[in-house]
Amino acid sequence: MINQLQEKYQLSLLLLLSAVAVLGIFPFVVIRYLAGNIVAAIIDMMLILGIISLVAYAYYSKKIRILSAVIAVFINTGVVIIVIANGIDSFLWIYPVFASTFILVKPVEAFCINVVAGISIVELSDVFNTISEESFIVTTSMLSLSAFVYASHGLKQFHLLETLNTVDALTGAFNRRAMRSDMTAAISNAERNGIKHLLAILDLDYFKMVNDKYGHAVGDKVLQDFVTIATSHIRKYDRLYRFGGEEFVLLIPEVSDQPDVFINNLRTTIKKELTTPDGKEITVSFGVASWVPGTTADTWLQRADEALYLAKAKGRDCAVFSN
Ligand code: GH3
Ligand code: MG
Ligand code: MG
Repeated sequence: MINQLQEKYQLSLLLLLSAVAVLGIFPFVVIRYLAGNIVAAIIDMMLILGIISLVAYAYYSKKIRILSAVIAVFINTGVVIIVIANGIDSFLWIYPVFASTFILVKPVEAFCINVVAGISIVELSDVFNTISEESFIVTTSMLSLSAFVYASHGLKQFHLLETLNTVDALTGAFNRRAMRSDMTAAISNAERNGIKHLLAILDLDYFKMVNDKYGHAVGDKVLQDFVTIATSHIRKYDRLYRFGGEEFVLLIPEVSDQPDVFINNLRTTIKKELTTPDGKEITVSFGVASWVPGTTADTWLQRADEALYLAKAKGRDCAVFSN
């Protein structure tokens, strides 16, 4: 979910950048050609074609991150080459290229790419016969550092937004929005690879009594403890979501040979560790449904909910598997 959001955003930036690059560079292809500077016209045209091809490949392959990095290196290499080949006439391109590198890759990576390109220009081009090398170093450093600070700040805000968008504020478990998105991904993964995912709804037993007896604040703390305990006993790729109130959903991507053993171990561990302030155990009921062909997000949740209903009816503190 998190990556999906970031990739969508990054893809729209890539498309914008390619449009700007084409509109910005193409007039120079014509100008250089008319001025008889065929080498510069060819380099500019290759830059345009390179950017379009890489962005198109990123769009269709969805390998956004790696291709953004390739484009960042490509445009920086391109600007080094054009400044070496065309000298002072193409010098000003360094600035938009350095700045747009920060749109493409992480701030630290962009800064390093800028440094390498800057050093290459200092070492390999002869523009410093005409302009001051010190001015170049100071102005490009200022540009890269300002862009670095701004991009780092933007990245932090993006991560904060992602957290707000996907995490339940009280417990720190993932929220329903993240659950829906992950379920859709799990279903298509199961359909493609036949992996038997498992979904469980976990409902704390007699939780209303906890609130009534100890107060709402203690109830909140129990919910937080539950998430801490449950997440520390599931595997890296298993995910816990707050479904609402005192109900949680556990999505398990790859089920072991004995899912009932895994689920019942988790249930008994939570029972041992989750207590009221005066040490009384709190139990949890599980309704479990494994993925079967034809499952949709709604039917999957419905089957797990029906199993949970049976678990409650059986007296709670147990797990029931849907057929
Ligand atoms: P059962 O064993 O049948 O599940 O009984 P229960 O009492 O757990 O279920 P019920 O649906 O009757 O009550 C759920 C309670 O959970 C009622 C509601 O006040 C409480 N609850 C829901 N969300 C929160 C929350 O965010 N914080 C606290 N403290 N309580 C909550
Ligand atoms: Mg309950
Ligand atoms: Mg409930």
